[in-house]
Amino acid sequence: MELYDVIVVGAGPGGAATAAYLARSGLKILLLDKFEFPRDKTCGDALSPSALSILDNLGLTDDLRNAGYRVEGVSITSPEGKTVRAPIPVHPVYPSHGYVVPRLVLDDLILRCGLRAGVQFHGSTHVLGIERDRAGVTVVAETGGSQRRFTARLVVLAVGANVRLLQTLGLTPRRMGYAHAVRAYFEGVSGLSRSLEIRFDRAQLPGYGWIFPLSSDSANVGAGLLPRRGRKTPGASALLAQFLSDPRLGPRFQTAHRVGPVKGFPIRTDFQQSRVFSDRLVIVGEAAGLVNPFTGEGIDYALESAQLASAYLVECFKREDLSFEALRGYERALRRRFQHVFVFSHWMRRQYMNPFLLDPLIRACERWPELTDLIVRTLLTYADPAEAIRPAVLLKVLRCLPSARSPRTPNLPATN
Ligand SMILES: Cc1cc2nc3c(=O)[nH]c(=O)nc-3n(C[C@H](O)[C@H](O)[C@H](O)COP(=O)(O)OP(=O)(O)OC[C@H]3O[C@@H](n4cnc5c(N)ncnc54)[C@H](O)[C@@H]3O)c2cc1C
Repeated sequence: MELYDVIVVGAGPGGAATAAYLARSGLKILLLDKFEFPRDKTCGDALSPSALSILDNLGLTDDLRNAGYRVEGVSITSPEGKTVRAPIPVHPVYPSHGYVVPRLVLDDLILRCGLRAGVQFHGSTHVLGIERDRAGVTVVAETGGSQRRFTARLVVLAVGANVRLLQTLGLTPRRMGYAHAVRAYFEGVSGLSRSLEIRFDRAQLPGYGWIFPLSSDSANVGAGLLPRRGRKTPGASALLAQFLSDPRLGPRFQTAHRVGPVKGFPIRTDFQQSRVFSDRLVIVGEAAGLVNPFTGEGIDYALESAQLASAYLVECFKREDLSFEALRGYERALRRRFQHVFVFSHWMRRQYMNPFLLDPLIRACERWPELTDLIVRTLLTYADPAEAIRPAVLLKVLRCLPSARSPRTPNLPATN
């Protein structure tokens, strides 16, 4: 049986980028996915500047320019309907723009980048189990109605929020953190700009709705929600319908029509409790709970963990050391990069995602535009999330609580 250096399971951004980086360094890589590509993935399709920087490193900038819609700002609408806007801030490394690219296109571009680097890809290959011993791994998969076995020295799991395989291997965290999100594509939408629209009006809290433009009149429109004990989570269509029932959105969707189905999918945000490695096995992307708990952004984290894991694994292969202890170094690197972001983002989500604080926060952003800039930088993780809860910031928010509002506080009519 052919022996690979690494088998990567899952060809989303995390898996495909890991495979591409490993193949570029000369390792023999097999990438497996249960679907043939191009395939759709339920997502908001927004690429942050940090995601663009890794995709640039993979050589995909020209493709993204052709396939994507460039966005240059963010607008946030509070539960009471006030909107603040800010450009994507300047960063020493990342570009000052993002893109919205349908995942049908994006994931195929990253896969093709890996194929050019020498990755072997098998679609329609559903991995059912992984057997491990001191010599390596055997991946057991179902393909075309029969079982096949593939062998490698190490396996990378990049299965996203599909947890069945992780459960089979006993690799799910004790307490899993999930959000539910839903999206649909619309054409004929009016009032779109080059901004990512994040809206808390009519979206169920804690959660938000979004309108991410794909052209001057088409958009990816969706809503996300954190399940709460004792509260029934609405179905995908109901969640989206509730968001779109906002009378402020009505005129913008008057001539719009939906293209394709409304699709829902879970989002895992439990990196803090997640396993990220085991014997002969490394986990990247959302399979390690790596989605920002505040924004639901996971493509850039999947790409960044792919970059970290592949750099680390290349070193392990060079040293001929794939032991459990050697792989622990990947966990250290990942925790150093993300643990702090997750602790604070979870905290911010708990504190801010309610109308009592969101409304004053957006009012404060209206009064002090530098606060909007800080919020956008926090959402993009340019700023330490701890900055958003500094006493000076909280004081400004408190000054905009209803009872504390000064007569000078602007009370602008709601716009988009
Ligand atoms: C509605 C919604 C909106 C979102 N919006 C955004 C956004 O705008 N921006 C953003 O950055 N993030 C967004 N996210 C999060 C983002 O989609 C994910 O975090 C991202 O796709 C994670 O990438 P990944 O490579 O880890 O996993 P995935 O992209 O989920 O890829 C996993 C792959 O593994 C394959 N697979 C799974 N199990 C098996 C198996 N047993 N055998 C073989 N193959 C398998 C799947 O077919 C899939 O191709 C959103 C998520 C949702 C649900």
